[in-house]
Amino acid sequence: MSRPILLSLAHMSGKEEQYIREAFETNWVVPLGPNVDGFEKDLENWLSAKADRKLHVVALSAGTAAIHLALVMLDVQPGDEVICQSFTFSASANPICYQGAVPVFVDSEPGSWNMDPVLLEEAILDRQKKTGKLPKAIIPVHLYGTPARMNEICAVAQKYGIPVVEDSAEAQGSVYDGRYCGTLGTYGILSFNGNKMITTSGGGALICPTKEAADRVKFYATQAREKFPWYQHEKIGYNYRLSNISAGIGRGQMTVLDAHIAHRRAIHARYVEELKGLPGIEVMQPKADAETHPNYWLSTLLVHPEEAGIGYQKLADILKEKQIETRPLWKPLHLQPVFKDAPKYINGISEKKFKEGLCLPSGPMVSRDDQSFIIETIRQTIQKNN
Ligand SMILES: *Cc1c(COP(=O)(O)O)cnc(C)c1O
Repeated sequence: MSRPILLSLAHMSGKEEQYIREAFETNWVVPLGPNVDGFEKDLENWLSAKADRKLHVVALSAGTAAIHLALVMLDVQPGDEVICQSFTFSASANPICYQGAVPVFVDSEPGSWNMDPVLLEEAILDRQKKTGKLPKAIIPVHLYGTPARMNEICAVAQKYGIPVVEDSAEAQGSVYDGRYCGTLGTYGILSFNGNKMITTSGGGALICPTKEAADRVKFYATQAREKFPWYQHEKIGYNYRLSNISAGIGRGQMTVLDAHIAHRRAIHARYVEELKGLPGIEVMQPKADAETHPNYWLSTLLVHPEEAGIGYQKLADILKEKQIETRPLWKPLHLQPVFKDAPKYINGISEKKFKEGLCLPSGPMVSRDDQSFIIETIRQTIQKNN
């Protein structure tokens, strides 16, 4: 058995090296090149199986860079406000601050743990009353791969004419109402960080609504160089493109993406099945407003201390002694010191989950035996405390 058992370790298909070798042999060891174009095409083709429109993908150096460029494209300016889900990783909100804008945090609804559409509308109306203008964008997140209530969120967004930037960093392959996450908003973002569904060792993508938008994103991502014989600049640019080497890893990873999704779904199904009936233990199973198929990027567990006999912290310590890695849920951003002055619309859901929840090992390197050991350790621990 492999030890330690990690939360979400990357797994290579074996094809990555072939694409990297091609890059070396053709001397494309530079930013951009055929692997970048190929990776973008692979992503577009893969997404098109479950999308209601043609999509245009731009490969970037990180998911964070993708969120940033979406906000640049939506003309988010200093002093503007952008609504962001509070229950998420800081990278969802940091780019708002890069633009000198103000994040406004909205809490979650209990079924998906994602942005509450009712609270969203309350927040929009209250911001309009307090500032005299509407927020410039809305950033919902599909936390741990569970789709947010996008039909309702998009209906609210449309009512007020506010674009949606869908943070799908954890949700590549999750399906909501027949469509892939990342294709549901105005812009969608993906992450290829080492622990996400697939990796390029570091990278991301911005899913754009039109070819014109995608071309403009490429322009901003390569230092905003105007079409002149010399280096002419009329906008502030960024160095955000994915390298041709990283894109080669991405092309190899695309060949195992569907297998990785199936693996994580099977891991989740087994946690649900085999931890069923343990007092105070609840594996997260989303309740949605439409048909959804989460990718179950990370399986998450709630530990209700009165019935379980112990809290999540104690359980995490015991698992750690057995070299099983776990992690608390994302600490809501409205509780983070760095965002303490940001306006917030809170209902207590994310704080409650944060105090009870754990992420369990869920990655492609978690074997059947590994998972048996994790489940058995949790079962024995809870039985001993009851
Ligand atoms: C990982 C992640 C990001 C950032 O992606 P990077 O590629 O690491 O920059 C953004 N949002 C969420 C919810 C994430 O989990």
